[in-house]
This record gives sequence, structure tokens and C-alpha cells, in this order.
Amino acid sequence: MGGGSPMQTVLVAPGVKDRKVLSFSRDALKDKDAVTGLVRSIVADTSSSPAQRSAFHVLDLAKVVDLFWAWRRALPDVRPYYAVKCNPEPALVGALAALGAGFDCASRAEIEAALALGVHPRSIVYANPCKPEPHLEYAAEAGVNLTTYDSVEEVAKVKRCHPKCELLLRLKGPDGGEAKVDLGIKYGAHADEVVPLLRAAQRAGLNVAGISFHVGTGASRMDVYGGAIVAARAAFDAAVALGMPPMRVLDIGGGFTAGATFDEAAAVVNDALAQHFGDLPCVEVIGEPGRYFAETAFTLAARVIGKRTRGEVREYWIDDGLYGSLNCILMDHYVPRPRPLATPGPGEKTHTSTVFGPTCDSLDTVVTGYQLPEMSVGDWLIFDDMGAYTTAAGSKFNGFDTSEIKIYVAYSS
Ligand SMILES: *Cc1c(COP(=O)(O)O)cnc(C)c1O
Repeated sequence: MGGGSPMQTVLVAPGVKDRKVLSFSRDALKDKDAVTGLVRSIVADTSSSPAQRSAFHVLDLAKVVDLFWAWRRALPDVRPYYAVKCNPEPALVGALAALGAGFDCASRAEIEAALALGVHPRSIVYANPCKPEPHLEYAAEAGVNLTTYDSVEEVAKVKRCHPKCELLLRLKGPDGGEAKVDLGIKYGAHADEVVPLLRAAQRAGLNVAGISFHVGTGASRMDVYGGAIVAARAAFDAAVALGMPPMRVLDIGGGFTAGATFDEAAAVVNDALAQHFGDLPCVEVIGEPGRYFAETAFTLAARVIGKRTRGEVREYWIDDGLYGSLNCILMDHYVPRPRPLATPGPGEKTHTSTVFGPTCDSLDTVVTGYQLPEMSVGDWLIFDDMGAYTTAAGSKFNGFDTSEIKIYVAYSS
């Protein structure tokens, strides 16, 4: 980073510097009240005529800066490589690059996007254990020379398409992390596969630079990192026993959530690193956090576009839903707790309400049996913590195109 505050560095970063960046105050206000105020000013602003009349996100870059420094404080020996798939918004990726993060990219397009923001190829891990050949050939051209693997077939493919690439052997994370999304079903070598996979790379003449794992996204039991680090150390020792060059990278993956569980996870990781890698001070430890940086930095405002009253029950339609950024309800077990933008009057009555998304599929239902004050068409609902696995996986089903949902970039101070 250059001189100046981290926020100044972020504001001139590629991906941010050409954007209009709104500033807002969180002085003496709770976080959520502050962002509510910003949403209010956006929907009331007619200077950018016409005023914002459809769903939008707000990205608070100050949150990203705070999270980055919290990571550095809690895990000073672990460089974060942000997992781009979680939310590829260029302002977020650019801000993290300016702060000093590396990147976990899983496809050609993600690598291209990171490089376009000035990220050095050496700061990219191509962290997809199973890669299409054309993507791998692109990585070779681009100079992205570190990738993960967990099968003998992948070794042969890397040898064919990108023989200079170094490998990280991906281990299956331990069971019992109670993750929102368990990735161990699909990825990661089992204990008895470690030696054969190391041998396969050795025979192919590919260098195994280290070990990676992922405990699953949204893990709720933090002790899983301990078990995974023990297994990683065993794999380091297995490589030495096979006469391979000593490994130098330990990639502890993602799975972190901002907040209290992060400190808990960091304590487990630091203890396990001291205990099991303390005698290997030259090993570079990296992580691949996605949710940690993205989740709390984005807020969604969606507009009420329809209403039906059935007795006491209120039914509303909003202009984002399960095929849009709220796909996280299905795909990521997001629990929506929308709150009206308008401040409810003192003692204002609430109604049992249903909120539907805009597409014609009845599955496109955001909440049911949910208490909301009376709202009208044109009112707004706010959804907090909407940055992880949201817009990234939205579709344009029924002509409602997720990529058209505007993202306002802002910073709070
Ligand atoms: C999805 C993914 C991540 C990010 O996971 P989070 O739980 O969002 O931190 C990191 N690494 C790999 C290989 C992934 O597939």
C-alpha cells in the first residue's frame, strides 16, 4: 500500500476509482440505522433523474477495510486470498487488492477479472480442483502457476495443458464442521488417497507446493480447522517421506464468518499452526475467505411492486427474489429478515405478511408468515448482510436480470 489511510488507498484502487462513491456517516448510529439513512437518501434523490425506482445494493467499503484489518490482527501470519466466486463485484475485488489481498479464482473469467484490476498473477491461486482444459491453458498464458488438485486425472491434465503449474493437494475437510454448504462431498482427497496423489504428481514431474483444504462455507464449529491442520501436517510429512522437495504453502481455505465466530476460528487456527507448523517457519500460510469479506458489506433495498390484501393477511411482490440476488435463500440458507425502510410509527400494528419475488414461479417466495407494518406499492424493504453468494448466482429468469440490479458504492465514516 502507498501512503495515506487504508480508505484513501481503496478509493483510488482500480474497480473503485472510476465509480461514484457516496459517503455517509455512522457516527453515534447503529450500523443498520446508518445504512438505512443512505438508502433513504438514494431513493429520495431526484438529481440523478429519474430517481432510483428498482432494487439496488449498497456496498460499504469501510466495512471491507475494517474486516481486512480485523483479519490482519487476528491472523497476522495468514494472507487472505479472497474467493472471487462469493461476490465478484469489481469495487470489492479492487478494494481488497489495494489492501493487499490475493485472490482465489476458479475459472478463466474470474482470473481475467482479477488481472484486469491489476492483480499480479502470482497473487492468484487457481483454486478449482477440476479445471476445463481451455481454462487451464489460459492460466498458463496468463502466468497463473498455482492450482489445486484431488485426482490422478487432474495431474495428467495439468501436465498436458500447463506443465509449469505447481500444485496444492486439496484434502477433504474433516466432518463435523456443521457448515451451511459442505464441500467435502465433492472435493478433497481422503486420507488414503494422499500418498497415491503425491506419487502421481512426482511421477509426472509436477511440483507439489503445498496442501489446501476447505472446511465448508459458513462453518459453525470452529474446531474443524484444528483437525484439518493436523491432516495437512501429516501430508507435508508424507511428501518428505516420498523424497519430494519440502512443501512451502499451507492453504487453510475459507469458511470464516465475520463476527464472534471469526475470533474463535482465528484462535483455533493460530493454536494449531503453532502446534503443528511451528517447526516449519518457512511455510507460507494463506486462506481463501469469501463470505468473511463480502457478507456484511452489502445491503439490498427492494421495492414493493404489488400488493394484495386477504383479510388480515398482506401479500406483497418485490422486484428481487429467489431467481435474483435472493437466490441465497435457496442456495446459501440465507434467512431473510426484511425491514421496512419507513420507520414504523409508535405502536404501529403489524400484519402477517407474505413477500413474493417478481417472477411467475410460486417457488419465488421470499418470506411467509412474517410480521410487517402495512406497506404500499412503491415502499422499500431492506435486507442486511446480502453480500455472500447473492448477485453472484442470480439469473435472468423470466426477464428479471440480476446483473441489472445497481450497486451503489459507498463508505461510512
Ligand atoms: C467457495 C470457496 C471458498 C470461499 O468459501 P467461504 O466459505 O465463502 O469463505 C474458498 N475456497 C474454495 C476452494 C471455495 O470453493
